[in-house]
Amino acid sequence: MQSLKEVLKRNYAILLDNLQKACLKAGRSMDSIRVLGASKGQSPEKIKIAYELGIKLFGENYVQEGEKKIKELSFLNIEWHFIGRLQTNKVKKALNLFSVLQTLDRYDLAKEIQKQAEKLNKSVPVLIEINIGEEPTKAGITKGEIEDFLEKISNFNRIKIIGLMCLPPYKENPEEVRPYFVEMRKLFERLKPYLGSEFRELSMGTSHDYTVAVEEGATIIRIGEALFGKRERNP
Ligand SMILES: *Cc1c(COP(=O)(O)O)cnc(C)c1O
Repeated sequence: MQSLKEVLKRNYAILLDNLQKACLKAGRSMDSIRVLGASKGQSPEKIKIAYELGIKLFGENYVQEGEKKIKELSFLNIEWHFIGRLQTNKVKKALNLFSVLQTLDRYDLAKEIQKQAEKLNKSVPVLIEINIGEEPTKAGITKGEIEDFLEKISNFNRIKIIGLMCLPPYKENPEEVRPYFVEMRKLFERLKPYLGSEFRELSMGTSHDYTVAVEEGATIIRIGEALFGKRERNP
């Protein structure tokens, strides 16, 4: 039996190798991309191993699950992002735990972030989640709604928009996801003049399609099972 450490080490080596190939193909440098360990359903033990291998950025989908791990691993210098659907009644807690919220997907949430951030007297870096496949089951702002949305939240001075994120439709063949990543990059370029130099992150690509995402401009790839192995229900 291989130890957890050996398994993760091997997974990470494969990931870096694929990443390097994608970078070469796209003429990008490896340091323009950060790997986020998508650690929902993964144990603190695995997160610690991944950290020791060199991953410093992790993302959690549920506030309660995240809180447990963040507290348990507080002795490590981890940057934690929130990447799940955020309920408004969990915003306060989330702001105390996570340094970036990647899933701003609706006005009510923006309003609550502004309110809680004001109380804490802090500024909150967020990514706007885009429903790039316009799927009714998925969260996010559509391309058509984005300008309106930005206009509506423009008075929320505690919210700092640092980028866009998406979870595109699942396709067996990752090549079929490419057009969505291209759309994301185009949208990013279109909004950049309005959002300035702080607007620099494009969070896209998961275990299944990260090489394509990198070829199309991702700056953060969110990797779960390709790094940690299968998720558990009670990590
Ligand atoms: C779970 C999750 C991921 C990682 O998915 P994998 O297929 O395990 O790589 C990435 N992003 C979000 C928003 C997720 O919920």
